[in-house]
Amino acid sequence: MSKKIIVWFRQDLRRADNPALYEAYQHGAHILPVFIVDDENAESWKRGAASNWWLHHSLKDLNSNLSNHMAFFRGKADEILPKLAKDISADAVYWNRCYEPWCKSRDATIKKLLEKDGINAESFKAGLIWEPWTIQTNSGTPYKVFTPFYKNGCLEKGDPQDPLPAPDRLTYADKPKNAVSLDALNLLPSRVRWDKKMEKHWQIGEESANETLSDFIDKGAGSYKTDRDLPGKDNTSRLSPHLHFGEISPRTVWYEIRKRQETDSISRADTKVFLSEIGWREFCYNLLYHFEERITDKPLQEKFETFPWRKRESYLEKWKKGQTGYPIVDAGMRQLWETGWMHNRVRMIVASFLIKHLMIHWQEGEKWFWDTLVDADLANNSANWQWVAGCGADAAPFFRIFNPITQGEKFDPKGHYIRRWVSELKNLPDKYISSPWTADKDTLKKAGIELGKDYPEPIVDHSQAREEALEAYKKVKNAD
Ligand code: FAD
Repeated sequence: MSKKIIVWFRQDLRRADNPALYEAYQHGAHILPVFIVDDENAESWKRGAASNWWLHHSLKDLNSNLSNHMAFFRGKADEILPKLAKDISADAVYWNRCYEPWCKSRDATIKKLLEKDGINAESFKAGLIWEPWTIQTNSGTPYKVFTPFYKNGCLEKGDPQDPLPAPDRLTYADKPKNAVSLDALNLLPSRVRWDKKMEKHWQIGEESANETLSDFIDKGAGSYKTDRDLPGKDNTSRLSPHLHFGEISPRTVWYEIRKRQETDSISRADTKVFLSEIGWREFCYNLLYHFEERITDKPLQEKFETFPWRKRESYLEKWKKGQTGYPIVDAGMRQLWETGWMHNRVRMIVASFLIKHLMIHWQEGEKWFWDTLVDADLANNSANWQWVAGCGADAAPFFRIFNPITQGEKFDPKGHYIRRWVSELKNLPDKYISSPWTADKDTLKKAGIELGKDYPEPIVDHSQAREEALEAYKKVKNAD
């Protein structure tokens, strides 16, 4: 008789290169695909609003690819899953590993409970290319610096195995009666339908993830090295939400890029830089795995616990709304609000502005990103906020303070990006687009701008804010 296997989907919402699903398929099992919204165990790390919106659509896509056989639940997975496995007399439960600290401890409990009931529980690698515990320094400790982690740890291991194909024909177990509908998971916003504006910017699901990758290979990858820092050019892959939800595996991304590198249709210099970004993703997960709450809840470098952060509610609100008076910062924050995503260069600029110009705790920014990003990812978000704050692993030193004017001038010289998101500045000449307050009255008038009315004056003075930040940094114990 065929086995009955539950495949528990989490951040692997795809059919191709899905080892848990593939293994169940290889057994010729009757499969019950399950998804559980487990906000209770996630506590403060439960998904934010933008991520929930994405998840809804991603689950809809996956369910349709699994012929609507998915069983949805809301509640504590450590209560739901063992009971479900017993109720339907499952032989096994398979899942692909997650690395968030709360998932790790919950999954270990579930494994024990299942095994106690004589049900086989197996987990697989699908969300990363290299498992964090396989990459260590010569002295057996985790890496804290990216370059040796990537070069000596990851690349030394050679290319990963080829991705697994999608199973062609699956047989399914009956859906249990207590499963709820996708809509009953309540992942979509209920009152203000802000998600309508986001729909214009994204195609969600496995097929779209693969198309996004192909598109990037055809159009963006060839100039990635030089253009990835120019937010007006939009030539990064935009794969981050697809990767976060596992609509495509990092191994597939790696494989497809390497294939094109081998045929030389894209220069090695470009693919090398792009693959190293996938390496950064692995590095962030390595930090999350090894340092857990030291990376999510506290500064990795303990000395930063004494930093004199300021509580500045009104400035924080202005930052969130894109009303700081610094065009490149405001453009980024408005792109985030409109689309649920922000270009990497601009993420660094807005984060630096919050932390160093406003001296507001990086965790405030991290929380805002968590709620508003469609790619909100505990490993990447925490590690990058700490990196910008100077308190993380291999971080930019605190005293290197991004100048939001010159960053705008350098990376958006013609103001394409700023004009797109801060439309009130669209008629301002290029020369002033990153610093409107330096334009004379006539120029402002011609551009239809009255500062303080149509667009804010800068909320802080750059040079003064910089001095204050450096002064505050001296209070950090053992500051360099
Ligand atoms: P590409 O340039 O096309 O890169 C390809 C992939 O590499 C990305 O999809 C991503 O998975 C990975 N990657 C690229 N840069 C980084 C990086 N610096 N760190 C880790 N992985 C990287 N990324 C998230 O996925 N989720 C987050 O919550 C997140 N929060 C961030 C917060 C701050 C303050 C900063 C500075 C960066 C953050 N990033 C986060 C990293 C990075 O900005 C995004 O991954 C990237 O902008 C996504 O766009 P893309 O897919 O076009 O990237």
